[in-house]
Amino acid sequence: VQQCLERQAQYAGLNAFVTRANATQIQDAAKAIVDSEFDGSSLAGRTIAIKDNIVTTDFPTTASSKILDAYKSPYNATVVEKLTGAGALICGKTNLDEFGMGSHTRPVFTSTTQSPFKRNGEALSAGGSSGGSAVAVATGQAWAALGTDTGGSVRLPAAYTGTVGFKPSYGRLSRWGVIAYANSLDTVGTLTQSVEHARDIFNVLDSFDPMDPTSLSEIVRNEAEYQSIASMEDKRLRIGIPLDYNTASLSPEVRRTWSQLLTSLQDAGHSLHPVSLPSTHQALSAYYVLAPAEASSNLAKYDGVRYGHRTTGPDANPKENMPLFAATRGEGFGPEVQRRILLGAYTLSSEAMDNYFVQAQRVRRLVQSDFDNVFALPNPLLDLRAEQSSDGPNVDILIAPTAPTLPPTLAEVEKLSPVEMYMNDVLTVPASLAGLPALSVPVKLQNGSTEAGDVKSIGMQVIGQFGDDELVLQVGQIIE
Ligand code: GLN
Repeated sequence: VQQCLERQAQYAGLNAFVTRANATQIQDAAKAIVDSEFDGSSLAGRTIAIKDNIVTTDFPTTASSKILDAYKSPYNATVVEKLTGAGALICGKTNLDEFGMGSHTRPVFTSTTQSPFKRNGEALSAGGSSGGSAVAVATGQAWAALGTDTGGSVRLPAAYTGTVGFKPSYGRLSRWGVIAYANSLDTVGTLTQSVEHARDIFNVLDSFDPMDPTSLSEIVRNEAEYQSIASMEDKRLRIGIPLDYNTASLSPEVRRTWSQLLTSLQDAGHSLHPVSLPSTHQALSAYYVLAPAEASSNLAKYDGVRYGHRTTGPDANPKENMPLFAATRGEGFGPEVQRRILLGAYTLSSEAMDNYFVQAQRVRRLVQSDFDNVFALPNPLLDLRAEQSSDGPNVDILIAPTAPTLPPTLAEVEKLSPVEMYMNDVLTVPASLAGLPALSVPVKLQNGSTEAGDVKSIGMQVIGQFGDDELVLQVGQIIE
């Protein structure tokens, strides 16, 4: 706790936190843990930071948005209750892109989070949207942190900051108390310094929650566990190399690190199998239709009446003759959030629905079946097992980069158009659309270049079949 407090003071300039824990309170809580019933729990006395879109009663929860200015939840998210129940100490709330919409932790109403790394003296992007959580862990301001991953928001910042980012299968960790961005994709994940720490937290959080309607039932959990025990019996892995992830946008460093990693795994006795996931090329477009559509519906509740910010003056803004609702939302949401609301409202409108939303749902199914066709394990969510062909490549796991390039400088990010920004998620959204467990592990960058600056590693992604989270973690431990 002492070290975490010192680091928080030392690295305050990186803006990893929106709110930090009071030093005396957390020291007292730490003293109470010593000799308590928690002794022996893997999380007892560990400092854990929480992304500021996960609600807490001890701290405000703002989602880095003005619309939730100083909002304080009357209840804790289930994941927070479970952590404190295991003796963890919550050391603050971390920064994010407003409502999780973005890839570089640049909220408009608060400060941008900076990576601890630099290139030619220039600050680099920490990735996003869980960039605050990633930087808090990378700099020792917290032992570990929770993030959320809708389309890559845990994995991308992990890749950019040299930390481990784990997005479990959709539905394994409770979303109760997680501010919704796109419900069908939102997943709570962890940022840690090692895969072992990710497993420690996952084991505490991984259980059915009746408060979350999409929490996986015990039946599916047992089925998944039963299957994955079988998949771990043979220690020689069949590793799939998704050829469609080898896009022209991959930087030479990323491609080289990927192929060196695969060669070393082959040398260790595992076998490599090129696989094709043809719908990958449509996945990004489908994601950027579906996520904003769900977001436009989720954000409708911020109307100035029930939560946070409310415009000043009477019910209408007299100058602009705007109703309270519109004036509050115009002031409370930043430009990217407004863009997503407009996009989503449009693709859900009656004249556009069939062309966008319905098509994107179809692509999502194709992405899922691409994955089912390459994994040896059947998808425990599919009833019609027989439909899954057994003559595919039957791989245990897929390994691919997390991000196409090394982290850009914040100055470079400034110049990107929204669509260029969205392109960065091309390697992370397919696993999100299919709800698969995915882990980003830092792999040492061999002979660093001037391109790399202070960056010492490249994030490599391990993707497993739905429910095969334990194998994903085991493979992560082999390659970290
Ligand atoms: N960058 C993606 C987006 O803006 C992913 C964000 C996330 O996973 N929360 O939607």
